[in-house]
Amino acid sequence: MQREPVTAYVALGANLGDAASAVREAVQAIATVPGVTAVRCSRLYRSAPVEASGPDFVNAVVELQTALSALALLDALQAIEDFAGRQRPYRNAPRTLDLDLLLYGSASIDSVRLTVPHPRMTERAFVLRPLAELAPERVTAEQLRAVADQPIEPLGA
Ligand code: ADP
Ligand code: MG
Repeated sequence: MQREPVTAYVALGANLGDAASAVREAVQAIATVPGVTAVRCSRLYRSAPVEASGPDFVNAVVELQTALSALALLDALQAIEDFAGRQRPYRNAPRTLDLDLLLYGSASIDSVRLTVPHPRMTERAFVLRPLAELAPERVTAEQLRAVADQPIEPLGA
């Protein structure tokens, strides 16, 4: 179905193997999804695991324009996760690649497969910091202050 392009934000995270390469490849994969245009990526960040195990995470946020519905976009993101070899042995397990849909325009969605805005995004520095870089108007100073104790730094810093 043809529709007006929507601005959406996707959080990327990886903490197994060459996590930085996994994130960079995922950005490329997102940019080539039919129906996705104008992809813009934050810097890559390194963060300590939150409610998860394993090595540090590499995180980033991507802004994209898309004619896809939110569910069709989720399908595409999950296909990219699967292609990256993601397994789900248990909740919050270390992962080769995690793609979470943070925001889809101004939509509020609460279905079995999809909750948008992502319900935990405001608790996570590794989402808020790169999101604020791309879209400062979507993150408040108060939200950033609330996660200021979570260790995170730009990769290579
Ligand atoms: P998590 O990201 O919470 O660690 P998963 O990536 O395994 O866990 O996702 C579990 C399920 O969350 C997915 O099957 C998906 O249907 C659902 N889900 C609900 N809302 C979202 C969202 N906004 N973005 C991505 N997945 C979501
Ligand atoms: Mg996920």
